[in-house]
Amino acid sequence: MSIQNQTYQTIVIGSGLAGLITALECHHTGPVLLVTKTSLGEGSTRYAQGGIAVAKKIGDSIEEHLVDTIAAGAGIVNEENARILVTEADASINILQKYGVIFDSSSEGREAAHSQARVLHAGGDQTGLAITTALTNSCQNLGVTILENTLVTGLKQNNFGGEVYGIETINNENILEHYTAQSIVLATGGLGSLYSRTTNPETITGDGITLAFEVGAQLADLEFVQFHPTAFKKKGSAPFLLSETLRGEGAILRNSLGEAFMQKTHPKADLAPRDIVAREITKEMQRENSSQVWLDCTQIESKNNIELTKRFPNIFKFCKAHNIDIRTQPIPVTPAAHYHMGGVFTDKWGQTTIPNLYAVGEAAMTGVHGANRLASNSLLEAAVFGIRTAEHINTQKNIPLASSSEALEIKSLGKTSTDLKVLQQLLWSTAGIERDAISMTKGLKTIESGQAIEKLSSKKAINMYRATLTSHLILKSALSREESRGAHQRSDFPERDDLNWKRHQVVSYVK
Ligand SMILES: Cc1cc2nc3c(=O)[nH]c(=O)nc-3n(C[C@H](O)[C@H](O)[C@H](O)COP(=O)(O)OP(=O)(O)OC[C@H]3O[C@@H](n4cnc5c(N)ncnc54)[C@H](O)[C@@H]3O)c2cc1C
Repeated sequence: MSIQNQTYQTIVIGSGLAGLITALECHHTGPVLLVTKTSLGEGSTRYAQGGIAVAKKIGDSIEEHLVDTIAAGAGIVNEENARILVTEADASINILQKYGVIFDSSSEGREAAHSQARVLHAGGDQTGLAITTALTNSCQNLGVTILENTLVTGLKQNNFGGEVYGIETINNENILEHYTAQSIVLATGGLGSLYSRTTNPETITGDGITLAFEVGAQLADLEFVQFHPTAFKKKGSAPFLLSETLRGEGAILRNSLGEAFMQKTHPKADLAPRDIVAREITKEMQRENSSQVWLDCTQIESKNNIELTKRFPNIFKFCKAHNIDIRTQPIPVTPAAHYHMGGVFTDKWGQTTIPNLYAVGEAAMTGVHGANRLASNSLLEAAVFGIRTAEHINTQKNIPLASSSEALEIKSLGKTSTDLKVLQQLLWSTAGIERDAISMTKGLKTIESGQAIEKLSSKKAINMYRATLTSHLILKSALSREESRGAHQRSDFPERDDLNWKRHQVVSYVK
């Protein structure tokens, strides 16, 4: 039987950790189709370096992990879901190991805002690659049906707001097809590549958000985009991520005078929460009128008895290829868009507000990260909630999450920009590390005055349409939240406003 004529129990969209683990865990109860935009396993997961957080070490505890997660989230973490995240961490690691992931036996690393060293890594600084390789092999060996280089362009539904029953796709030859299933899982990742500086691969442009939005699913917290403080900065190089574990092992941020500027800014110095470090770097760059600061790893080996070539083989190799020996030379860095805390609004079983539609991983908003994610909690979220979602699908007890009546209603969709680079620059400059009403209104006007494309007949045009629509939704959400909280920092509303905004911001499409 052809792939197309088969009846599937589940269609999973995306082949990062969230999609792969959901597909594997659903596969034993019914046929699964895994559809992915480019090659199997391409996504942010593959590039994750630092690792996956789990409180296993003697002296650490689930409670401490929970406390750190809630503290990082700036007042709006969903505590029930966060407790699930940290409590089910260990069992999820065991399931990853069952599918062949081999974690390093050396001690756990430490990352920013964690009170304990609790980050499991694999292949040194190639945790994401180790996970992706093991899970893609398992999917292939266990017979999950895989469709690569296929963009999901829409979800099938009879009535707006009603149940979904399938997907529409376009492949590299611009051939359109459709597939049906009882359950559809969005595992499409975040949206970093809507920004001109990002650590994410180029396929990650927030598709799941608009796919869900178009069928009437509620979204939430789209304004919370995390900027990673330390991406490699050199002309001609993509902003390669320099993992926080470098700072966890003792690397220090310095300005051009060699001053360790984080030490005078925050009690946790270089290990302060990400949003604070990213903003301080930006301020330091503005003060010095420079396009980078420096990450100094030169004291790590002598102080901590660590061999940088062994602990960070990938980072070492990358910097060496750009003529920097991290053992003796500081690394030029700037912040870059990295992670999306917002996404498709889901409950603790991955259910959205639309029957039969689930969302997992970075595409979902479970509320576990609040306004700011704790490092190494996102791979964990993808694993824990991917496994839970599969369990829910396998037992077929679909009762979708109730819609929130207090939603930001969007009545018109953005028009289509024609150039991704222009759109990325626009989002960076209008909804970046610091925003205000003037910049965001300018961003919205630019998008709203764009051209409406009537015939979306190629993969490129559809990608562009989705990228524009997601950017539009981010700007609308960020403009609406009139306060500063976590990763959302407004220079015109610099204070946190718990009276009005200690809550998630739900967004819905009203046709
Ligand atoms: C450089 C880097 C380092 C990181 N390091 C860490 C770390 O150490 N620890 C940690 O916890 N987190 C880390 N993160 C974050 C973490 O990797 C991600 O949040 C997580 O991997 C997301 O997994 P996912 O499965 O949800 O999405 P992804 O892994 O991004 O996968 C999304 C998938 O969806 C597919 N897709 C998207 N749209 C469509 C469409 N329309 N049709 C078909 N397919 C589609 C993509 O091609 C891709 O396969 C890092 C992120 C980056 C970028």
